[in-house]
Amino acid sequence: MQPFEQLGLIGCGLMGGSFALALKKAGLVKRIVGYSKSPSTTERARQLGVIDVEAPSALLAAAGADLVLLAVPVAATESTLKSIKHLVTPEMMIMDVGSTKVDVVQAARTALRDQIGSFVPAHPIAGKEVSGVEHSDPQLYQGAHVILTPTERTLTTHLQKAQSLWELLGCRVRAMSPEAHDSTFATVSHLPHLLAFAMMQSVLSQPGADEVLSLAGPGFRDFTRIAASDPKMWRDVLLANSEQVLAQSRQFQTALQQLESLIQAGDGQALEDRLTLASAARAHWRLGAPRR
Ligand code: NAP
Repeated sequence: MQPFEQLGLIGCGLMGGSFALALKKAGLVKRIVGYSKSPSTTERARQLGVIDVEAPSALLAAAGADLVLLAVPVAATESTLKSIKHLVTPEMMIMDVGSTKVDVVQAARTALRDQIGSFVPAHPIAGKEVSGVEHSDPQLYQGAHVILTPTERTLTTHLQKAQSLWELLGCRVRAMSPEAHDSTFATVSHLPHLLAFAMMQSVLSQPGADEVLSLAGPGFRDFTRIAASDPKMWRDVLLANSEQVLAQSRQFQTALQQLESLIQAGDGQALEDRLTLASAARAHWRLGAPRR
């Protein structure tokens, strides 16, 4: 693949910064112009070598770019795309990295209208519970799945280019509908984050929480690791995918109630059977591998 002439990076945080570094490392871009909401973030991105040039607006970051990456909170997608719309040409490829896709695709349709063909919605299944450009990591995407949710009007050339680009960054690319994406990730990402936040909230609401927390061990650490994630980002994701998240939450509550009933009834055998099923499934589960 020929290197891109210019990446316009809008949102110089963890995901955007990591993409910029990975692209540079792979020799896939000649110049990176970046913009973030706070000028101090954009300046920091340049100081860290994540971007080459600071832009004072999203529009100026996109000007002259053949690749634009939106790595902003999903709720900012529509306004960001509107702000660059009149620069968008069929030759420009625009991608995002948002964690939800139905709302992002709808925002792109509203903002880009006839230029929607330039947009390739993407969600790399990679990340950290820390945010900000300081945590940018050129290896972040290595080995990760990337889900593309093209619209019926996404240009085939852009879709193919997006696929090749992510593959060159070491990713495994899958395409699915925005709806299937949001339902899948409500199950395996959004609900687990909600539960981790709820777990912390539950402990904190009890008397003596500090003492209790000081005695917690590795099980608690592993279960709640993702509760340290960025609250603003997760507020946006949970609200953007509320229907699927609430459906999964109800599903989870059913499973929890079934286990509670078995505990209440003192039915050790049935309880063990249920736990055995879950334990075996988890023991065989491998990150990114299909279940056998
Ligand atoms: P982050 O580290 O907080 O970075 C977000 C960046 O966007 C910040 O630099 C912020 O600038 C900037 N920003 C916010 N609103 C903006 C706007 N209206 N215009 C321009 N810049 C704006 O967050 P992140 O983790 O990289 O998340 C970015 C996207 O990736 C989100 O859509 C999220 O759903 C998705 N994602 C995240 C993960 C993860 O694990 N973190 C995984 C997969 C996908 P300031 O610094 O000035 O506030």
